[in-house]
Amino acid sequence: AAKALGRNSYSFFEPAMDERLQSRRRTETDLASALEDGEFELFYQPFVNVIQQTISGFEALIRWRHPQRGQISPAEFIPIAEEVGQIAPIGLWVLETACRQAMHWPSPLSVSVNLSPVQFREATLFADVRRILKETGLPPGRLQLEITESVLLHDTESVLAVLRGFRKLGIRISMDDFGTGYSSLGYLSRFPFDKVKIDQSFVRDLAKRENLAVVRAVIGLSKAMGIGVIAEGVETAEQRDLLLAESCDEMQGYYFSKPRPVTEVAAFLEAFNAAADMPRRRAAADL
Ligand code: C2E
Ligand code: MG
Ligand code: MG
Ligand code: MG
Repeated sequence: AAKALGRNSYSFFEPAMDERLQSRRRTETDLASALEDGEFELFYQPFVNVIQQTISGFEALIRWRHPQRGQISPAEFIPIAEEVGQIAPIGLWVLETACRQAMHWPSPLSVSVNLSPVQFREATLFADVRRILKETGLPPGRLQLEITESVLLHDTESVLAVLRGFRKLGIRISMDDFGTGYSSLGYLSRFPFDKVKIDQSFVRDLAKRENLAVVRAVIGLSKAMGIGVIAEGVETAEQRDLLLAESCDEMQGYYFSKPRPVTEVAAFLEAFNAAADMPRRRAAADL
């Protein structure tokens, strides 16, 4: 009876567990060679100033084209890369590639790169960033780094020293996914961030009173502190209008553009600028 029970109680979830574990192991092994096999690629998503109808820059978002499994989301493999010690080389590849590719964009368009908290454990992070800027020739003012508040949870003094070093070089620092962590507001006073990115979870349902209240508070506080604000995950005209009503002029999201391959950046800029020029030209013709 025990045997039968055992078989019944295990058999139906064990294969699923096994599959998940195997898939995870496979991701770990494959990650080890993905970099040298050239399986990573950067996609770019624009930052749009809705009032000025301008684009200030693009965020670099990594993509993994796995030869058998197709595209794997960074949400899936970045945490694993962090655990197995692969994030440092991958992160440097992202920085180097983003800076090199941004050199082809019209100045002063900037590129924004996500940094993992784990990268701050590398004693060479600051020197690596400075070297990559030098080697690629990208002016530091055209590089932004995005960190989440979890970066500030541990070894805060050494982290702050690195961040201050970046600032001194002229690199701008954004706080990503703002509002999702533990004590977001406190962190804003600990380091002079250039920009706060309001997390898409608040933008998704702005009709909810609580979400609108958070967004309003973040915008108010940031403005009072002289910090820029950008809303992430804007998908609809309605969300755009609600954010504009709260004086949030800068936005990012599928409504404006999905992340796209680097080969599409130039054409996107051209189309965007042409569309933005149209009402201006019309207005000029009316004069
Ligand atoms: P993130 O930095 O907060 O990036 C925003 C994510 O939201 C991106 O997902 C982007 O494609 C997605 N997104 C943009 N607009 C919309 C929208 O309107 N609606 C919805 N539903 N989603 C939108 P992605 O590219 O899958 O990246 C997920 C996360 O993975 C990033 O979140 C970031 O934390 C991490 N990541 C991506 N690239 C890198 C990287 O190069 N280095 C590190 N350390 N992390 C990265
Ligand atoms: Mg980001
Ligand atoms: Mg984010
Ligand atoms: Mg995120």
